[in-house]
Amino acid sequence: MRRKIVAGNWKMNGSKDLVNSLVGQIRSELASLDNGVETVIIPPALYVGDVLSQAGAALTVGIQNVSCWDSGAYTGEISAVMARDAGCSVALVGHSERRQLFGETDEQVAVKVGKALASGLDAVICVGETLEEREAGKAEEVVSAQIRKAVADVSNGQWSQVVVAYEPVWAIGTGKTATADDAQAMHAAIRGVLKELGAPAEEITLLYGGSVKADNAAALFGQPDIDGGLIGGASLKAEDFVGICRAMP
Ligand code: 13P
Repeated sequence: MRRKIVAGNWKMNGSKDLVNSLVGQIRSELASLDNGVETVIIPPALYVGDVLSQAGAALTVGIQNVSCWDSGAYTGEISAVMARDAGCSVALVGHSERRQLFGETDEQVAVKVGKALASGLDAVICVGETLEEREAGKAEEVVSAQIRKAVADVSNGQWSQVVVAYEPVWAIGTGKTATADDAQAMHAAIRGVLKELGAPAEEITLLYGGSVKADNAAALFGQPDIDGGLIGGASLKAEDFVGICRAMP
């Protein structure tokens, strides 16, 4: 049985007020949910402590990015060790916004995956093709190469901390979702790559992200290789986020 996960990536959104109104509401509405879904909130790093104090045992908390270094003279950086120390359980690594807007490379992603795993965090490794790459028929090739590089240094004992999130760049924040069939095809391909690499592929949780909403989540989560979602915009409204968590079969 694979872990089923719904994670809300708040990106650079939110405030203390939002934490206070949203987290408690999500927590209380999910209290009666018994579909086995693990719910993760990934706020801007400054609010991790605030979210944790509202989260209770039912919600876990993550960080959106970690540094390539553990500590030292790296102004503005936050290390995986610090995120773990502050109470995070999960780190996003290689989100397409970090790759595209901040020039994060596959090599840096691999280092960050290593730092997250070594510090005891689960690493949610984000991969996905651009529209141009999809239209050129290169989606699988691109995603496969991203995965191979990101997990190159993962050791056998660490696979249980690895989660892969497939987020086609053209579906992020655009309202365009991959069809359930297309998403399933890519998830199956991702599992195939992990298997080739010698990972326990059948046990690794694969998330879909990109314009997931309460009304399209059930079709996506119903696919055999889609084990949950990484949610952006819809994670900022309790009703939408809870609706997505409820859509897990
Ligand atoms: P949206 O759900 O807003 O499309 O964002 C997806 C995402 O990037 C989550 O990491």
